[in-house]
Amino acid sequence: MAVFYHSTRDINKNKITASQAILQGLSPDGGLYVPDRIPTIDFALTELANMSYQELAFKVLRLFLTDFSEIELHDCITAAYGKNFDDPAIAPLVFHDGAFYLELFHGPTIAFKDIALQLLPHLMTTAAQKNHSHKKVLILTATSGDTGKAAMAGFANVPNTKIIVFYPQAGVSPIQERQMLTQEESNTYVFGINGNFDRAQTNVKNIFNDQAFKQQLANLNYQLSSANSINIGRLFPQIVYYFYAYGQLLAKQQLISGQPVNFSVPTGNFGDILAGYYAKKMGLPITHLICASNKNKVLTDFFQTGIYDKNRPFYVTSSPSMDILVSSNLERLLFYLTGSDPVMTADLMQQLQQTGAYKITPAMQAALAKDFSAGYADESATSHEIAHVFKASRTAIDPHTAVASHVARRFKDTNGQPMIIVSTASPFKFPKVVLSAITDNKAGQLQDLTDLQQLRQILKVPYPSTIKQLLEKQPQERQILEPNQMQTAILKVID
Ligand SMILES: *Cc1c(COP(=O)(O)O)cnc(C)c1O
Repeated sequence: MAVFYHSTRDINKNKITASQAILQGLSPDGGLYVPDRIPTIDFALTELANMSYQELAFKVLRLFLTDFSEIELHDCITAAYGKNFDDPAIAPLVFHDGAFYLELFHGPTIAFKDIALQLLPHLMTTAAQKNHSHKKVLILTATSGDTGKAAMAGFANVPNTKIIVFYPQAGVSPIQERQMLTQEESNTYVFGINGNFDRAQTNVKNIFNDQAFKQQLANLNYQLSSANSINIGRLFPQIVYYFYAYGQLLAKQQLISGQPVNFSVPTGNFGDILAGYYAKKMGLPITHLICASNKNKVLTDFFQTGIYDKNRPFYVTSSPSMDILVSSNLERLLFYLTGSDPVMTADLMQQLQQTGAYKITPAMQAALAKDFSAGYADESATSHEIAHVFKASRTAIDPHTAVASHVARRFKDTNGQPMIIVSTASPFKFPKVVLSAITDNKAGQLQDLTDLQQLRQILKVPYPSTIKQLLEKQPQERQILEPNQMQTAILKVID
């Protein structure tokens, strides 16, 4: 049965196809596209134990992307999940220190965003062909660090596309910045912004809503699209690994089919954990989806009080991909919590825009508590968690994973169900933080590149290939913009 898409804010629920939603990214009314129904899985959970990642991706995505042919989907998935991942399992599940870690960092940029961003460009070019669009696709992306590189790697050399990435100049790690500055394909561009991530993201959103500017681009034969996690083409590929984790537990005979599990998810823009929510609605037995935040704990407070309030200090932490005060994908969850009410959703989003805050009803709060729990780890707890896991299992986890791992401890002891920690980045992406947690080296004395060597010696594992390249390539010079110069920069790029 076909699934169509409409905006979270559209009273008429005007429908478009999956491929159109992928091409547009964001709805013109500022809302996010949601499916008109959430399909349930049409295979038995027991089958998960024997499915490859690619087979499972096909079975899950087919249910949502109903205007893609089987061959198209198959080709996209084959192109996305192959030798570009350094583990044939794509998303292996490993056990350390009393919990399972779902490793989503085996792709080309060693962070979980590869899972979606290796697939999205193929979905997007297929979608463009299906809709007979002769325009070139211009991808604009705001990044808190990992999306930028992952999107550049995904779109590099994809015909008829250009990608421009904006990152907060002071908000990404030196390695993250160097990763972006060493991407050398001629269709990828990157700019630092004077401002934090929210500023960069808001400006990108404003550009998407600027009809006059979009017309100007259309006259130049470009169509804007987004690789941010607001795009359903980013969201759905992430549902796959929740099922895949469950399949691996079944295969390892760690549980019997139907038995519930918990996931602890390090959260920023709420894309990763929202995919878990879809997985649950589709039939995966999940008790708690644990929303783990860092010191920027706007979501923890929201889950506990029902009040979302971004009027608070913004902290730059050791887990920069979670340094976010406005979680875009939360709008989709709000839509479901209102009972799929676009008027109420639009109203809450308007309050957020005007006052920086909103409060949900007690009924919505009760609905939230059925599926989600929340907690946070401050900087010291994050560092202790890295040390704790290292001591117990001689493995290093990255600071984002550590946030989720810390928050998970409280639940592990209480409900006895298997705990899966979504492990979103390789420790080699954040060597300074990891080393200062597991050695006596004081942060600040450390230099990112020598840290890498030291970390490799301690962990006794080879470098991921992206790190090797990073060390070999000369980065391009960084270009910094004021937020109000973004449109000019875009026009220059496509000129
Ligand atoms: C993006 C990112 C997150 C947060 O994921 P969201 O979908 O934005 O909630 C967590 N960890 C890492 C390493 C990331 O890159």
